[in-house]
Amino acid sequence: MSAGNPLREPEGAPILIDVAIVGAGPYGLSIAAHLNGRGVDFRVFGKPMATWLNSMPQGMFLKSDGFASSLSAPGRDHSLRSYCIRNGIAYDDYSIPVSLSTFTDYALDFQRRLVPELDQRDVTVLASMDGGYMLRLEDGECVHARRVVLAVGISYFDYVPDVLCPSGRQFVSHSSAHRSLERFRDMDVTVVGAGASAIDLAAGLHETGARVRLVARTPAIHFASMPKTGALSRWQRIRHPRSGLGPGLRSRLYCELPDVFRYLPAPLRLMIVRRHLGPSSPWYLRPRVMGKITVMTNHEIESADVRDDRVHLVLCNGKPEPVTVSTDHVIAATGYRVDLQRLRFIESDLRDRIRTAGSMPRLSAHFESSVPGLYFAGLAAAGTFGPLLRFVYGTEFAAQRISQHIAATRKAA
Ligand SMILES: Cc1cc2nc3c(=O)[nH]c(=O)nc-3n(C[C@H](O)[C@H](O)[C@H](O)COP(=O)(O)OP(=O)(O)OC[C@H]3O[C@@H](n4cnc5c(N)ncnc54)[C@H](O)[C@@H]3O)c2cc1C
Repeated sequence: MSAGNPLREPEGAPILIDVAIVGAGPYGLSIAAHLNGRGVDFRVFGKPMATWLNSMPQGMFLKSDGFASSLSAPGRDHSLRSYCIRNGIAYDDYSIPVSLSTFTDYALDFQRRLVPELDQRDVTVLASMDGGYMLRLEDGECVHARRVVLAVGISYFDYVPDVLCPSGRQFVSHSSAHRSLERFRDMDVTVVGAGASAIDLAAGLHETGARVRLVARTPAIHFASMPKTGALSRWQRIRHPRSGLGPGLRSRLYCELPDVFRYLPAPLRLMIVRRHLGPSSPWYLRPRVMGKITVMTNHEIESADVRDDRVHLVLCNGKPEPVTVSTDHVIAATGYRVDLQRLRFIESDLRDRIRTAGSMPRLSAHFESSVPGLYFAGLAAAGTFGPLLRFVYGTEFAAQRISQHIAATRKAA
């Protein structure tokens, strides 16, 4: 390769491996644990649990139930439940919310025990090369892999509505930018959104000493009801069956039938992934916000501009006169939208060869994209397999399926 080539190998021969996993969140770690169990030659790259440790508010509780918040590994019980029992942490499958710190401590313990070989360097370039792949790591070292599993999670896909984008980061940020809320003490902050992230942030901001306003398009803020403990009646089991995505018949179907979901027409799949379970918060967040912050439901942002170091929002609420709001900072808790083009570390030639539905990759039954040997797991796979893949609960399905296929096609590779 020429000296100007961004993929130039700095020195020595590159390392050659069968499989490279990019990302060490719940999906990357679970896939690694399963590949380990099947004796596949692999390397896994990335900082363990980086999204959860850096981009979620301290003090947060998980939205998913305890039983649905385990990483997946073959063999003995490696669940969150057994971690909590071993460490004397109060646990219940349904009624005790899981704290962010318990979940990240559990996942880091999982990594140390089951994926000790994790290489914590980030992958800065991925390109196809000689029928396989070339990965460049953050320190310049290059690795060649026959196959690559992209388990890069959600962080590339944070979504801020266009109307807010021109205001600049000093005045508008995405919810994922705030691990600590201390900088907002005594400030006037407007949170946009109606989902759990928005409510969680609004509660945290209020408790930090900020003046908080929540702006949402929805007619009301929806809180899920407190989970029922003990056995459910037959009618409750039929009407609201339990599932890894929470109670409900549809959620149960999306958990049980991801292979069937794959056969739905693409526009319907994408619509379901976008809308299923949207905006709703766990029951325990209600007392932390209601009556404590200003809630403006049924309001949509029409325009935003920055004057005199404040953001001026014009909101419409269906009435002839728009409402104006002046605030120090706007936080968009408006979620994540997969767009393959945002994965800039993938060389454009390779990115352009990945067939998509909408802006999500089209995947085979084994999570393989249209480019042979390139797999996607986690949120990017939700467009194919449904809402299950947006949550930790989907790690079992994805890790089993991907590792099985990779092990079975080892010789062919
Ligand atoms: C506020 C909030 C609360 C949530 N609560 C829940 C919940 O209660 N239950 C639930 O199931 N889900 C929840 N989710 C969704 C959750 O994010 C996903 O379920 C989960 O993170 C998916 O795991 P993942 O491994 O796909 O992604 P991630 O956790 O995002 O992990 C991906 C990893 O890949 C790494 N990575 C990315 N690019 C590279 C690269 N180039 N090189 C190396 N490493 C790289 C990242 O640093 C990261 O560590 C929540 C999301 C948010 C934003």
